[in-house]
Amino acid sequence: MRLAQRVQRIRPSATVSITALAAKLRSEGKDIIALSVGEPDFPTPEHICAAACDAIKRGETKYTVVDGSPDLKQAIIEKFRRDNELAFEPDQILVSCGAKQACFNACLALLEAGDEVIVPAPCWVSYPDMVRLTGAEPVIVHTSAEHGHKMTAEQLRGAINEATRVLIVNSPCNPTGATYTRADWNALAEVLLDHPRIFVITDDIYEHLHWGAEPFCSLLSACPDLGARVLTVNGVSKTYAMTGWRVGYCAGPVPLINAMTTLQSQSTTNACSISQAAAIAALTGDQACVAEMRAEFQDRQSFVVERLNELPGFHCRPGDGSFYAFPDVREALDTLAVNDDVTLCEQILAEAGVALVPGTAFSAPGHLRLSFAADRKTLTKALDRMGDFLETR
Ligand code: PMP
Ligand code: GLU
Repeated sequence: MRLAQRVQRIRPSATVSITALAAKLRSEGKDIIALSVGEPDFPTPEHICAAACDAIKRGETKYTVVDGSPDLKQAIIEKFRRDNELAFEPDQILVSCGAKQACFNACLALLEAGDEVIVPAPCWVSYPDMVRLTGAEPVIVHTSAEHGHKMTAEQLRGAINEATRVLIVNSPCNPTGATYTRADWNALAEVLLDHPRIFVITDDIYEHLHWGAEPFCSLLSACPDLGARVLTVNGVSKTYAMTGWRVGYCAGPVPLINAMTTLQSQSTTNACSISQAAAIAALTGDQACVAEMRAEFQDRQSFVVERLNELPGFHCRPGDGSFYAFPDVREALDTLAVNDDVTLCEQILAEAGVALVPGTAFSAPGHLRLSFAADRKTLTKALDRMGDFLETR
């Protein structure tokens, strides 16, 4: 079988494949706790599910227009106005099958072989591979815990060269929870204003899972001057516990949105019509469910970070949002004489029955990612097992 070169440039998503492995082990009768995938453990709120049932009853089971139903686009425009004080027109919005497809469409529409894309790391597993798929090269900028895992203006300036075409920033960040403040964005914008050809994809998918000292601020809210070259990506998966519904969206300059819409018209066409109806209910309905879930995640974070810091050789700083903890385990690797985070993850899965994701998948070796989108009892059991494993080794 001859496969295309482009497939050989990428790897399967580590978060998705480790979770599939955990499910397989479980189906074989092994007692596995999966803290590997990033999805809320809560059910989708009832009023959202009811809106989907109503859509089915109304016969909304056909294709929609490619870029998203007009009502959903209005709901998205209203969301950007309400949450981010951003004004968009309908032709600046595209609805896709998840924020993942929004990022994917954007990379395909913007990048050529030879282009470079700056990605601050630790970063979501999919960005570097989406970039590679286009023939462009990800340029990973390693951030430090001392700077709150955020890229500084100096780091950005140092990474830019003639080939730089795009910057991809995710705030709050998967996997660290690092969140760029208005001042952080302004500092980065100063550099970007010197380089007008650089386009920015900002992934705000964890916007509402944020509990930093300052309110969440989207890049464009802080720096409207960058308007012509920013794509703001968001979605309903994390905010409304809707990962399986597959609805994401983005807002940006019309020529880019048009190009992405053309690409999508030749791939998935539109996001599921029923899910689009559910997303309207999510965005326009009572937002109390969002605050409830956020409060629970924040509580769990305190608990998980405290327990992780009690494990020998684990050092975890709490992020400002998302539902991941990302402990630095380099000291544990040294003490245990384990080669790397990938091996440690394999051992924790095999011996403690807990599925985590190695930091290497996030371009940050020497770390582990634990998703605390699981109930307190499950988290306690997982941390007990990890403690036992580390002490008896
Ligand atoms: N961006 C980030 C940073 C994520 O963690 C995820 C999680 N899958 C996504 C985008 C994509 O989310 P979805 O496709 O479910 O909207
Ligand atoms: N974004 C989530 C994660 O990082 C879901 C899986 C994926 O799409 O990568 O686990």
